[in-house]
Amino acid sequence: MGGAAKNQTGDRAERIGTRVVRTARVLPFGDGTPVVPPLVQSVAFDYGSMAEQDRVFANERPGYVYGRYGTPTTAALERALAELDGAEDAVCFVSGMSAIAALFAVVHADRGRIVAQEDTYGATRAMLERSRTERAADVAFVDPTDRGAVERALAEHTTAILYVEAISNPLLRVVDVALLASLAHAAGATLVVDATFASPVLVQPIALGADVVLHSLTKYVNGHGDVMAGSVAGRSEMVRRLRERVMSDGAYLPPHEAWLTIRGMRTLALRMERQCASASELAKHLEAHPKVARVHYPGLPSHPQYDLTRAQFGGRGGGVVTFALRDDAREPAYRFLDALDLAASATTVGDLFTEVLHPATASHRRVEPAERVRMGISDGTVRVSVGIEDAADIIADIDAALERV
Ligand code: PLP
Repeated sequence: MGGAAKNQTGDRAERIGTRVVRTARVLPFGDGTPVVPPLVQSVAFDYGSMAEQDRVFANERPGYVYGRYGTPTTAALERALAELDGAEDAVCFVSGMSAIAALFAVVHADRGRIVAQEDTYGATRAMLERSRTERAADVAFVDPTDRGAVERALAEHTTAILYVEAISNPLLRVVDVALLASLAHAAGATLVVDATFASPVLVQPIALGADVVLHSLTKYVNGHGDVMAGSVAGRSEMVRRLRERVMSDGAYLPPHEAWLTIRGMRTLALRMERQCASASELAKHLEAHPKVARVHYPGLPSHPQYDLTRAQFGGRGGGVVTFALRDDAREPAYRFLDALDLAASATTVGDLFTEVLHPATASHRRVEPAERVRMGISDGTVRVSVGIEDAADIIADIDAALERV
Protein backbone atom coordinates (compact mmCIF):
# COMPACT_ATOMS: atom_id res chain seq x y z
CA MET A 1 0.00 0.00 0.00
CA GLY A 2 1.27 3.50 -0.98
CA GLY A 3 4.75 4.93 -0.88
CA ALA A 4 6.87 5.38 2.22
CA ALA A 5 7.03 8.80 3.99
CA LYS A 6 8.51 10.00 7.27
CA ASN A 7 6.25 9.41 10.29
CA GLN A 8 5.21 12.32 12.58
CA THR A 9 8.37 12.18 14.63
CA GLY A 10 10.31 12.00 11.37
CA ASP A 11 12.49 9.15 12.49
CA ARG A 12 11.37 6.38 10.16
CA ALA A 13 9.84 6.06 6.70
CA GLU A 14 6.46 4.30 6.98
CA ARG A 15 3.86 3.28 4.43
CA ILE A 16 0.33 4.72 4.35
CA GLY A 17 -1.20 1.59 5.92
CA THR A 18 1.01 2.11 8.97
CA ARG A 19 0.76 5.90 9.04
CA VAL A 20 -3.09 5.99 9.22
CA VAL A 21 -2.92 3.68 12.22
CA ARG A 22 -0.17 5.54 14.04
CA THR A 23 -0.96 9.19 13.33
CA ALA A 24 -2.93 11.72 15.46
CA ARG A 25 -2.03 10.20 18.82
CA VAL A 26 -1.30 13.53 20.52
CA LEU A 27 -3.69 16.44 21.18
CA PRO A 28 -2.02 19.60 19.81
CA PHE A 29 -3.11 22.04 22.55
CA GLY A 30 -0.21 24.43 22.12
CA ASP A 31 0.34 26.55 25.22
CA GLY A 32 -3.37 26.90 26.05
CA THR A 33 -5.22 24.88 28.66
CA PRO A 34 -8.62 23.63 27.49
CA VAL A 35 -11.37 25.17 29.63
CA VAL A 36 -13.25 21.86 29.42
CA PRO A 37 -11.33 18.75 30.52
CA PRO A 38 -10.40 16.54 27.58
CA LEU A 39 -12.19 13.25 27.18
CA VAL A 40 -9.33 10.76 27.21
CA GLN A 41 -11.01 7.69 25.81
CA SER A 42 -7.79 5.67 25.54
CA VAL A 43 -7.82 2.25 27.20
CA ALA A 44 -4.03 1.93 27.30
CA PHE A 45 -1.04 4.25 27.82
CA ASP A 46 2.43 3.95 26.29
CA TYR A 47 5.46 4.99 28.37
CA GLY A 48 8.11 4.42 25.73
CA SER A 49 10.10 1.99 27.88
CA MET A 50 9.31 -1.02 30.03
CA ALA A 51 11.21 0.55 32.92
CA GLU A 52 8.90 3.57 32.92
CA GLN A 53 5.77 1.43 32.60
CA ASP A 54 7.02 -0.68 35.48
CA ARG A 55 7.38 2.43 37.66
CA VAL A 56 3.77 3.39 36.91
CA PHE A 57 2.57 -0.11 37.77
CA ALA A 58 4.53 0.11 41.02
CA ASN A 59 2.99 3.54 41.84
CA GLU A 60 6.48 5.06 41.82
CA ARG A 61 5.38 7.68 39.30
CA PRO A 62 1.88 8.95 38.47
CA GLY A 63 0.20 7.57 35.39
CA TYR A 64 -2.37 5.27 33.92
CA VAL A 65 -1.87 1.86 32.37
CA TYR A 66 -5.29 0.42 31.65
CA GLY A 67 -8.88 1.73 31.54
CA ARG A 68 -10.17 -0.64 34.22
CA TYR A 69 -7.56 0.63 36.70
CA GLY A 70 -8.02 4.36 36.18
CA THR A 71 -8.42 7.01 33.49
CA PRO A 72 -7.46 10.71 33.51
CA THR A 73 -11.05 11.84 32.83
CA THR A 74 -12.50 9.64 35.59
CA ALA A 75 -9.74 10.86 37.91
CA ALA A 76 -10.76 14.48 37.20
CA LEU A 77 -14.29 13.61 38.32
CA GLU A 78 -12.97 11.79 41.39
CA ARG A 79 -10.92 14.81 42.45
CA ALA A 80 -13.96 17.05 42.02
CA LEU A 81 -16.14 14.73 44.11
CA ALA A 82 -13.53 14.43 46.87
CA GLU A 83 -13.47 18.21 47.01
CA LEU A 84 -17.27 18.61 46.99
CA ASP A 85 -17.73 15.86 49.60
CA GLY A 86 -14.85 17.22 51.73
CA ALA A 87 -13.10 13.83 51.62
CA GLU A 88 -9.47 12.81 51.29
CA ASP A 89 -10.21 10.83 48.12
CA ALA A 90 -13.02 9.39 46.00
CA VAL A 91 -13.45 6.57 43.49
CA CYS A 92 -16.10 6.16 40.79
CA PHE A 93 -18.05 3.09 39.69
CA VAL A 94 -20.33 2.12 36.82
CA SER A 95 -23.44 2.62 38.97
CA GLY A 96 -24.54 3.60 42.45
CA MET A 97 -25.23 -0.07 43.26
CA SER A 98 -21.75 -1.16 42.18
CA ALA A 99 -20.34 1.53 44.51
CA ILE A 100 -22.46 0.21 47.39
CA ALA A 101 -21.51 -3.43 46.65
CA ALA A 102 -17.78 -2.60 46.58
CA LEU A 103 -18.07 -0.61 49.77
CA PHE A 104 -19.78 -3.45 51.65
CA ALA A 105 -17.19 -5.91 50.34
CA VAL A 106 -14.25 -3.76 51.48
CA VAL A 107 -15.49 -2.14 54.69
CA HIS A 108 -17.30 -5.25 55.83
CA ALA A 109 -14.42 -7.59 54.99
CA ASP A 110 -13.59 -7.89 58.67
CA ARG A 111 -17.21 -8.87 59.39
CA GLY A 112 -19.24 -7.54 62.31
CA ARG A 113 -22.83 -6.40 62.19
CA ILE A 114 -24.27 -4.04 59.59
CA VAL A 115 -26.96 -1.81 61.07
CA ALA A 116 -28.90 -0.32 58.19
CA GLN A 117 -31.76 2.11 57.80
CA GLU A 118 -34.94 0.06 57.31
CA ASP A 119 -36.30 2.13 54.42
CA THR A 120 -33.27 2.46 52.17
CA TYR A 121 -33.51 2.34 48.39
CA GLY A 122 -35.07 -1.04 47.51
CA ALA A 123 -32.02 -2.52 45.75
CA THR A 124 -29.78 -1.61 48.70
CA ARG A 125 -32.17 -3.34 51.06
CA ALA A 126 -32.35 -6.37 48.72
CA MET A 127 -28.52 -6.51 48.63
CA LEU A 128 -28.36 -6.45 52.43
CA GLU A 129 -31.00 -9.15 52.74
CA ARG A 130 -29.16 -11.32 50.22
CA SER A 131 -25.92 -10.89 52.16
CA ARG A 132 -27.71 -12.44 55.15
CA THR A 133 -28.41 -15.64 53.24
CA GLU A 134 -25.36 -15.74 50.95
CA ARG A 135 -22.64 -14.61 53.38
CA ALA A 136 -24.40 -15.22 56.70
CA ALA A 137 -23.92 -11.50 57.39
CA ASP A 138 -25.44 -10.12 60.56
CA VAL A 139 -27.72 -7.34 59.30
CA ALA A 140 -30.14 -5.43 61.52
CA PHE A 141 -32.62 -2.90 60.16
CA VAL A 142 -33.57 0.15 62.22
CA ASP A 143 -35.44 3.41 62.06
CA PRO A 144 -32.46 5.84 62.10
CA THR A 145 -34.63 8.67 63.42
CA ASP A 146 -35.23 6.61 66.61
CA ARG A 147 -32.11 7.22 68.70
CA GLY A 148 -32.90 4.48 71.22
CA ALA A 149 -33.43 1.87 68.48
CA VAL A 150 -30.09 2.79 66.87
CA GLU A 151 -28.26 2.60 70.21
CA ARG A 152 -29.78 -0.81 70.99
CA ALA A 153 -28.91 -2.21 67.54
CA LEU A 154 -25.34 -0.93 67.81
CA ALA A 155 -24.92 -2.30 71.35
CA GLU A 156 -26.28 -5.83 70.74
CA HIS A 157 -23.30 -7.00 68.66
CA THR A 158 -19.97 -5.63 67.48
CA THR A 159 -20.99 -3.36 64.62
CA ALA A 160 -18.86 -2.68 61.56
CA ILE A 161 -21.13 -0.33 59.61
CA LEU A 162 -24.02 2.00 60.35
CA TYR A 163 -25.61 2.62 56.94
CA VAL A 164 -28.12 5.42 56.31
CA GLU A 165 -29.49 7.69 53.57
CA ALA A 166 -29.28 11.46 54.18
CA ILE A 167 -32.80 11.74 52.73
CA SER A 168 -34.46 8.36 52.40
CA ASN A 169 -36.09 6.99 49.29
CA PRO A 170 -39.09 7.27 48.90
CA LEU A 171 -40.40 8.48 52.28
CA LEU A 172 -37.89 11.33 52.56
CA ARG A 173 -36.96 10.79 56.18
CA VAL A 174 -33.98 12.92 57.18
CA VAL A 175 -31.23 11.53 59.39
CA ASP A 176 -29.22 13.51 61.91
CA VAL A 177 -25.73 12.84 60.53
CA ALA A 178 -23.80 14.42 63.44
CA LEU A 179 -25.78 12.45 66.03
CA LEU A 180 -25.44 9.15 64.14
CA ALA A 181 -21.71 9.74 63.67
CA SER A 182 -21.24 10.10 67.43
CA LEU A 183 -23.36 6.98 68.12
CA ALA A 184 -21.50 4.94 65.47
CA HIS A 185 -18.07 6.03 66.65
CA ALA A 186 -18.92 5.33 70.30
CA ALA A 187 -19.72 1.76 69.17
CA GLY A 188 -16.54 1.52 67.05
CA ALA A 189 -18.54 1.49 63.78
CA THR A 190 -18.08 3.28 60.45
CA LEU A 191 -20.89 5.67 59.48
CA VAL A 192 -21.75 5.42 55.79
CA VAL A 193 -24.15 8.00 54.35
CA ASP A 194 -25.80 7.58 50.96
CA ALA A 195 -26.26 11.27 50.07
CA THR A 196 -27.81 10.64 46.63
CA PHE A 197 -31.07 12.52 47.31
CA ALA A 198 -29.35 15.43 49.05
CA SER A 199 -26.29 15.79 46.77
CA PRO A 200 -23.22 17.71 47.98
CA VAL A 201 -25.21 20.93 47.55
CA LEU A 202 -27.51 20.18 50.52
CA VAL A 203 -25.11 18.36 52.82
CA GLN A 204 -21.49 17.28 53.24
CA PRO A 205 -21.81 14.37 55.69
CA ILE A 206 -18.04 14.11 56.27
CA ALA A 207 -17.99 17.63 57.72
CA LEU A 208 -20.70 16.43 60.13
CA GLY A 209 -18.65 13.43 61.26
CA ALA A 210 -19.54 10.65 58.76
CA ASP A 211 -16.70 8.39 57.57
CA VAL A 212 -17.93 7.55 54.08
CA VAL A 213 -20.22 9.32 51.60
CA LEU A 214 -21.64 7.66 48.57
CA HIS A 215 -23.71 8.91 45.68
CA SER A 216 -25.59 7.44 42.83
CA LEU A 217 -24.20 10.02 40.39
CA THR A 218 -26.91 8.80 38.02
CA LYS A 219 -29.27 11.13 39.92
CA TYR A 220 -28.70 14.78 40.87
CA VAL A 221 -24.95 15.03 40.29
CA ASN A 222 -25.20 14.24 36.58
CA GLY A 223 -28.84 15.29 36.42
CA HIS A 224 -29.44 14.81 32.70
CA GLY A 225 -30.71 11.23 32.59
CA ASP A 226 -27.94 9.98 30.32
CA VAL A 227 -25.34 8.42 32.64
CA MET A 228 -25.22 5.57 35.15
CA ALA A 229 -22.47 6.15 37.73
CA GLY A 230 -21.68 5.95 41.44
CA SER A 231 -19.02 7.20 43.83
CA VAL A 232 -17.56 6.51 47.26
CA ALA A 233 -15.60 9.20 49.12
CA GLY A 234 -13.74 8.93 52.40
CA ARG A 235 -10.26 8.36 53.80
CA SER A 236 -7.42 7.67 51.37
CA GLU A 237 -6.70 4.23 52.80
CA MET A 238 -10.28 3.02 52.31
CA VAL A 239 -10.39 4.48 48.79
CA ARG A 240 -7.10 2.76 48.00
CA ARG A 241 -8.62 -0.59 49.03
CA LEU A 242 -11.68 0.12 46.89
CA ARG A 243 -9.46 0.94 43.91
CA GLU A 244 -7.61 -2.34 44.31
CA ARG A 245 -10.89 -4.18 44.36
CA VAL A 246 -12.38 -2.41 41.35
CA MET A 247 -9.28 -3.29 39.30
CA SER A 248 -10.29 -6.94 39.42
CA ASP A 249 -14.08 -6.54 39.74
CA GLY A 250 -14.29 -4.43 36.58
CA ALA A 251 -16.82 -1.90 37.84
CA TYR A 252 -14.67 1.20 37.24
CA LEU A 253 -16.40 4.19 35.62
CA PRO A 254 -15.32 4.62 31.97
CA PRO A 255 -14.14 8.05 30.74
CA HIS A 256 -17.11 9.00 28.56
CA GLU A 257 -19.54 8.60 31.48
CA ALA A 258 -17.13 10.54 33.71
CA TRP A 259 -16.90 13.34 31.15
CA LEU A 260 -20.70 13.63 30.87
CA THR A 261 -20.98 13.61 34.68
CA ILE A 262 -18.47 16.46 34.96
CA ARG A 263 -20.49 18.45 32.45
CA GLY A 264 -23.74 17.73 34.30
CA MET A 265 -22.19 18.55 37.66
CA ARG A 266 -21.38 22.13 36.62
CA THR A 267 -25.05 23.10 36.94
CA LEU A 268 -25.78 21.00 40.06
CA ALA A 269 -26.11 23.97 42.44
CA LEU A 270 -28.33 25.92 40.03
CA ARG A 271 -30.55 22.93 39.36
CA MET A 272 -30.78 22.01 43.04
CA GLU A 273 -31.82 25.53 44.11
CA ARG A 274 -34.62 25.62 41.54
CA GLN A 275 -35.73 22.05 42.16
CA CYS A 276 -35.88 22.63 45.93
CA ALA A 277 -37.90 25.84 45.46
CA SER A 278 -40.37 24.18 43.07
CA ALA A 279 -40.65 21.03 45.21
CA SER A 280 -41.46 23.18 48.23
CA GLU A 281 -44.21 24.94 46.25
CA LEU A 282 -45.62 21.62 45.03
CA ALA A 283 -45.54 20.10 48.55
CA LYS A 284 -47.48 23.03 50.02
CA HIS A 285 -50.00 22.82 47.18
CA LEU A 286 -50.52 19.07 47.61
CA GLU A 287 -50.90 19.34 51.38
CA ALA A 288 -54.02 21.43 50.79
CA HIS A 289 -55.36 19.21 47.98
CA PRO A 290 -58.61 17.31 48.77
CA LYS A 291 -57.48 14.17 46.89
CA VAL A 292 -54.21 13.85 48.81
CA ALA A 293 -54.08 12.09 52.19
CA ARG A 294 -50.42 12.65 53.19
CA VAL A 295 -47.44 14.59 51.88
CA HIS A 296 -43.86 13.64 52.77
CA TYR A 297 -41.58 16.60 52.22
CA PRO A 298 -38.74 17.56 54.58
CA GLY A 299 -39.30 21.28 53.91
CA LEU A 300 -42.89 21.21 55.25
CA PRO A 301 -43.45 22.16 58.91
CA SER A 302 -45.59 18.98 59.19
CA HIS A 303 -42.53 16.79 58.43
CA PRO A 304 -41.20 15.04 61.58
CA GLN A 305 -37.62 16.21 60.89
CA TYR A 306 -38.51 19.73 59.74
CA ASP A 307 -36.24 21.49 62.28
CA LEU A 308 -33.35 19.12 61.55
CA THR A 309 -33.85 19.69 57.80
CA ARG A 310 -33.68 23.44 58.25
CA ALA A 311 -30.50 23.21 60.30
CA GLN A 312 -28.73 20.47 58.34
CA PHE A 313 -29.71 21.41 54.76
CA GLY A 314 -29.68 25.20 55.10
CA GLY A 315 -33.48 25.42 55.03
CA ARG A 316 -33.86 23.45 51.79
CA GLY A 317 -36.01 20.33 51.63
CA GLY A 318 -34.68 18.62 48.49
CA GLY A 319 -36.20 18.16 45.04
CA VAL A 320 -38.44 15.14 45.70
CA VAL A 321 -42.00 15.14 47.02
CA THR A 322 -43.77 11.90 47.96
CA PHE A 323 -47.50 11.77 48.62
CA ALA A 324 -50.29 9.28 49.21
CA LEU A 325 -53.66 9.54 47.51
CA ARG A 326 -56.73 9.70 49.72
CA ASP A 327 -58.03 6.81 47.62
CA ASP A 328 -54.97 4.84 48.73
CA ALA A 329 -54.82 1.96 46.24
CA ARG A 330 -52.87 0.90 43.17
CA GLU A 331 -55.62 1.42 40.57
CA PRO A 332 -56.21 5.16 41.30
CA ALA A 333 -52.43 5.66 41.56
CA TYR A 334 -51.97 4.14 38.09
CA ARG A 335 -54.81 6.30 36.73
CA PHE A 336 -53.08 9.39 38.13
CA LEU A 337 -49.70 8.37 36.67
CA ASP A 338 -51.18 7.56 33.26
CA ALA A 339 -52.95 10.95 33.14
CA LEU A 340 -49.74 12.98 33.60
CA ASP A 341 -48.57 14.78 30.49
CA LEU A 342 -45.54 16.93 31.39
CA ALA A 343 -44.09 14.57 34.03
CA ALA A 344 -42.44 11.44 32.68
CA SER A 345 -43.22 8.12 34.28
CA ALA A 346 -39.60 7.14 34.91
CA THR A 347 -37.72 4.84 37.25
CA THR A 348 -35.22 7.44 38.39
CA VAL A 349 -34.90 10.77 40.22
CA GLY A 350 -32.81 13.92 40.14
CA ASP A 351 -32.97 14.75 36.45
CA LEU A 352 -33.76 18.17 35.08
CA PHE A 353 -37.15 16.97 33.88
CA THR A 354 -39.97 16.05 36.25
CA GLU A 355 -40.27 12.31 36.82
CA VAL A 356 -42.85 10.30 38.71
CA LEU A 357 -42.67 6.79 40.10
CA HIS A 358 -44.92 4.31 41.89
CA PRO A 359 -42.57 2.96 44.60
CA ALA A 360 -44.68 -0.11 45.49
CA THR A 361 -44.35 -1.54 41.97
CA ALA A 362 -41.00 0.00 40.95
CA SER A 363 -38.16 0.91 43.37
CA HIS A 364 -39.62 -1.18 46.24
CA ARG A 365 -41.19 -3.94 44.18
CA ARG A 366 -38.94 -6.60 45.71
CA VAL A 367 -39.60 -5.59 49.31
CA GLU A 368 -42.09 -7.93 51.06
CA PRO A 369 -45.58 -6.30 50.70
CA ALA A 370 -46.27 -6.46 54.45
CA GLU A 371 -42.89 -4.90 55.24
CA ARG A 372 -43.50 -2.22 52.60
CA VAL A 373 -46.80 -1.24 54.18
CA ARG A 374 -45.24 -1.29 57.67
CA MET A 375 -42.59 1.17 56.44
CA GLY A 376 -45.34 3.46 55.11
CA ILE A 377 -45.13 2.79 51.37
CA SER A 378 -48.77 2.20 50.49
CA ASP A 379 -50.17 1.28 47.05
CA GLY A 380 -51.44 4.85 46.66
CA THR A 381 -48.00 6.37 47.31
CA VAL A 382 -46.44 8.35 44.46
CA ARG A 383 -42.95 9.88 44.28
CA VAL A 384 -42.39 13.06 42.27
CA SER A 385 -38.87 14.15 41.35
CA VAL A 386 -39.38 17.81 40.54
CA GLY A 387 -37.53 19.07 37.47
CA ILE A 388 -36.39 22.54 36.39
CA GLU A 389 -39.49 23.27 34.29
CA ASP A 390 -41.68 26.18 35.45
CA ALA A 391 -43.22 25.26 38.79
CA ALA A 392 -46.68 26.47 37.68
CA ASP A 393 -46.64 24.01 34.75
CA ILE A 394 -45.54 21.12 36.96
CA ILE A 395 -48.33 21.85 39.45
CA ALA A 396 -50.93 22.29 36.67
CA ASP A 397 -49.96 18.89 35.22
CA ILE A 398 -50.29 17.18 38.60
CA ASP A 399 -53.60 18.93 39.33
CA ALA A 400 -55.03 17.84 35.97
CA ALA A 401 -54.00 14.23 36.63
CA LEU A 402 -55.46 14.31 40.16
CA GLU A 403 -58.79 15.27 38.56
CA ARG A 404 -58.83 11.78 37.01
CA VAL A 405 -58.53 10.01 40.36
N1 PLP B 1 -28.96 5.05 46.35
C1 PLP B 1 -30.17 5.65 46.21
C2 PLP B 1 -30.69 6.50 47.31
C3 PLP B 1 -30.90 5.47 45.03
O1 PLP B 1 -32.09 6.05 44.90
C4 PLP B 1 -30.35 4.65 44.01
C5 PLP B 1 -31.09 4.41 42.77
O2 PLP B 1 -32.21 4.80 42.61
C6 PLP B 1 -29.13 4.03 44.22
C7 PLP B 1 -28.44 4.27 45.39
C8 PLP B 1 -28.51 3.13 43.18
O3 PLP B 1 -27.97 3.87 42.16
P1 PLP B 1 -27.82 3.36 40.64
O4 PLP B 1 -29.21 3.25 40.09
O5 PLP B 1 -26.98 4.41 40.01
O6 PLP B 1 -27.15 2.02 40.69
